This record gives sequence, structure tokens and C-alpha cells, in this order.
Amino acid sequence: MIAKSIRENLQGMWSLLVGMKVTGKNFVQPNITVHYPRQTVASLEGYRGHVELVPHDKDPTKSKCIACSNCVRICPNSCITMKAVKPKKKAEDKEAAGDQSEGKKKAPAKKAKPELQSFILDYNYCSLCGQCAELCPTGALRFSSNVYLAGFTRQEFVIDLLARLQRQAQTKGAPNG
Ligand code: SF4
Ligand code: SF4
Repeated sequence: MIAKSIRENLQGMWSLLVGMKVTGKNFVQPNITVHYPRQTVASLEGYRGHVELVPHDKDPTKSKCIACSNCVRICPNSCITMKAVKPKKKAEDKEAAGDQSEGKKKAPAKKAKPELQSFILDYNYCSLCGQCAELCPTGALRFSSNVYLAGFTRQEFVIDLLARLQRQAQTKGAPNG
């Protein structure tokens, strides 16, 4: 009876020591999480946030998007809707047409590129598959590092990416949003 009691006590102490060893080992290891919002992570490399429009090299308020609609068609969840309009014909086009009517041979006027009016991502349904970015012929889409996205309604996750790009260009250096 006494021997059994001693054995049980020793087993209990042993499991206590094993537990303390595991706790102690983890206690001295560096943190892998942060106390958000007091702290934020140092690097977001490799993080896949929602897709975003890439700014044009010459004008950061404009996107590289040429409104080809490839991304709209390929998206398996129909997350993307966009609106683009063809810009009005420029005065030079009219001039070119005038010259042609006078018999002068000129190179045919270039087709006007459609201008992006809005680019809406419904992030509620996005599976972050990346097909839209992969298929984009101009590299106009990429994953963002918008890690702190939060909201109370579904509508808050329907994002106008063009308006976001323009906001970011105006407030360059401001936190990602
Ligand atoms: S990442 Fe995939 S699901 Fe999300 S918008 Fe692009 S194609 Fe659609
Ligand atoms: S695939 Fe690229 S260029 Fe074409 S509409 Fe989408 S974002 Fe614009």
C-alpha cells in the first residue's frame, strides 16, 4: 500500500518535471507573435493580402491596367467588376482625318486605349488563387500587404482598387489601407 503511494507520488513529480521542462523551454524562446495593435510585424514579405492595382511608372495615380478584362473572365469566383470608357477623339485625330481627305497619305491613327473608371474587387469571395495577377498582360495586379484589413459589414470588403490606388498616391508613405 505504502509502496504504491510512493510510486504514484514519484510518477506525479516526474510528470510535473516534464511539464516544467516544456514550459521553461518555450518561455525562453523568442516570441513569434506580436501584441497587435501595440506592435506590428516587421516584415510582410510573402504575405498574400487582397490583390491591388500596380501604379503606372509615369503617373502613380493611374494604373497599368489596359482594361482587357482578362482578370474578370478568369476569376473563378467572379470577384472583379470593372468599368472603362474610350476617351474622346483628340484634335490630332481630326487633323489626321483632314489631311487624308486632302489626299496626303498618313499612318492610320492609333486606336484609343480605354480609360479605367473603376475596378471593384469583392474580397468576400476571393480565394487568393492569384490567377487574375498571373494572367494580366501588363502586370497591373499583384497581392497587397494589407494585413490589417478588418470590418463589420460585407460591404467594407468590396474595395474600389482604383480609388484606393489614387488615395495611396495622394497620401504616399501613409499606412497601407
Ligand atoms: S485572386 Fe483569384 S479569386 Fe481573388 S480576385 Fe484574383 S482570380 Fe479572383
Ligand atoms: S488583366 Fe490586367 S490589364 Fe486586363 S483588365 Fe485585368 S488588371 Fe487590367
